[in-house]
Amino acid sequence: MKEIVMADRAGFCFGVKRAVDAIVDALESRSSAKEGEVWSIGMPIHNPQEVARLEAMGLKIARNADEVPNGARVFIRAHGEPRAVMEGLRGRGETIADMTCPHVRRAQERAGEFSSRGYDIVLLGDARHPEIQAIMGYVDGPVDVVANVAEAENLPKRPRVALISQTTQQEELLAGIASALVPKAGELCVCNTICKATVERQDAVRRLAGRVDGVVLVGGRESANTAKLRDIAKANGMDVLWIESAEEMEWGWFEGKMKIGIAAGASTPQWLITEVCNKIART
Ligand code: SF4
Repeated sequence: MKEIVMADRAGFCFGVKRAVDAIVDALESRSSAKEGEVWSIGMPIHNPQEVARLEAMGLKIARNADEVPNGARVFIRAHGEPRAVMEGLRGRGETIADMTCPHVRRAQERAGEFSSRGYDIVLLGDARHPEIQAIMGYVDGPVDVVANVAEAENLPKRPRVALISQTTQQEELLAGIASALVPKAGELCVCNTICKATVERQDAVRRLAGRVDGVVLVGGRESANTAKLRDIAKANGMDVLWIESAEEMEWGWFEGKMKIGIAAGASTPQWLITEVCNKIART
């Protein structure tokens, strides 16, 4: 029988729990499915199994704001939306439940403030990620997105630069990007907008190193913070099996491993973690 060692921080963070709880409350408080449709713009969280559960309860998912019917109740996910999208929804008189995580809101506000004061904005993150796209939507002037130190080194010299991070990045990388920008900027302001929940889950994975024979990481394939946990586990010498649910377990991976660490991204619900633990415990 395998021994399971849980990471001491795993699963839903404050921002995701707040958003999911609000959607569930809205769905459950309707007296009928027809009364007040509940919509989300985009996947409300990067976890397909939890999204499927919410859809089964009646949540409708729009690809963009234009798809949300007039008069619907629309939830803004924790990643936030660009300012133009929010203004468009308000202009249409939609009932908005804004579940933008306060940490993401802070990054949006910093980007907007520095941009309006004439700083060129450099965002550390994944340019395709909805959180970065939402933050970019609060910038009025020049903005660059960099994912690594090499990309920062390629940026031109500029008089005033503000560096802001996607909330799920690693602090070491933010520090590396800041160092690369020092010779590129007459004046450099660095905003550490990495959220504590992310750092706590990353540190919890580091603490598994040397204590387990491998780590089962539970989280959505599109989850940026889960991908970071995978990178950290590997960088700390741990063999990682990244799965979305218990159905994806690869039993060959467990051969020769007795102590199994369990880690999970900030968008992984507890019920999925519990299913994975139960399945491993039964082997
Ligand atoms: S990871 Fe942090 S920033 Fe993102 S939703 Fe959770 S608490 Fe908010």
